[in-house]
Amino acid sequence: MSPIQQVVGAIAQYQSGSAALARIEEARRLPAEPVTEPAPLPGPAAEPASLAFDGVRFRYAEDLPYIHHGVTFAVPPRGMTAFVGPSGAGKTTVFSLIERFYDPDAGTIAVDGRDLTDWDVSALRSAIGYVEQDAPVLSGSLRDNLLLGNPDAGEEELLRAVRTTRLDSLVERLPKGLETLVGHRGTKLSGGERQRVAIARALLRRPRLLLLDEATSQLDAVNEAALRDTVADVARTTTVLVVAHRLSTVTAADRIVVMDAGLVRAVGTHRELVTGDPLYAELAATQFLASGGLVEDAGVPS
Ligand code: ADP
Ligand code: MG
Repeated sequence: MSPIQQVVGAIAQYQSGSAALARIEEARRLPAEPVTEPAPLPGPAAEPASLAFDGVRFRYAEDLPYIHHGVTFAVPPRGMTAFVGPSGAGKTTVFSLIERFYDPDAGTIAVDGRDLTDWDVSALRSAIGYVEQDAPVLSGSLRDNLLLGNPDAGEEELLRAVRTTRLDSLVERLPKGLETLVGHRGTKLSGGERQRVAIARALLRRPRLLLLDEATSQLDAVNEAALRDTVADVARTTTVLVVAHRLSTVTAADRIVVMDAGLVRAVGTHRELVTGDPLYAELAATQFLASGGLVEDAGVPS
């Protein structure tokens, strides 16, 4: 293996710094041996997963207040579910629990109708694509960055992921196409492009469930439309959950889960919630609409 391939391989195991930290945290908190024999999730490229939270209560530590006070929602296979709510409502924590960085103190989380603790943790994680708010782009070629998701991906699959994420026009513009160096030593990518690179990387792992914590930074109109179309496309074949900060995302969502102070206060479409839920209507009017994005926590991952 070339040095870059070795680095790519090593980094693939640590998709990002915070995921690595969360894994260390998880190793400290979870029992070393599962109580029951774990069942692996079906292999890659399998069917989109369903997901259900039922009365989930959770706090990060015994001396800290509860963050989730009985969170309940259900997501069928396929389609896009958006999570919205004020900063601190507990949206990102939903994703951390799905990845089993932590386990709930009460209530259950089920994938395909089976409790998360029944699944093998590494099989569960390999079935999930997690795109964080500030998805990193590493120094190296664009191709290297994409293959971090799955070093064994074939050329055809790579090009398909590039097309799905609307990165093909970027590739055409770059002087050396996929071989162009990106990251801080190469061509600088915009926030919207970086997040689409991260989605393409996640798609190469053929996830059954894609978790996307949408970047809060402002996107230009082209990038915003590209992100919306990408997510809508992926949601045709995969179950997609998005912590949404943009009107264009929530209007495209099949359902929106409105969270506030650790509880789900409403579930519906944008159209239903604008008239049916005062908090949602306020978020839509003051935050989505005013700025084109939810800016309450701009710059601060939340
Ligand atoms: P949201 O994504 O809706 O803004 P989060 O789920 O990130 O909310 O956070 C909910 C609450 O949990 C916040 O008060 C946050 O400070 C707290 N929190 C998040 N992560 C941790 C952690 N690792 N340890 C302790 N508290 C945390
Ligand atoms: Mg958040």
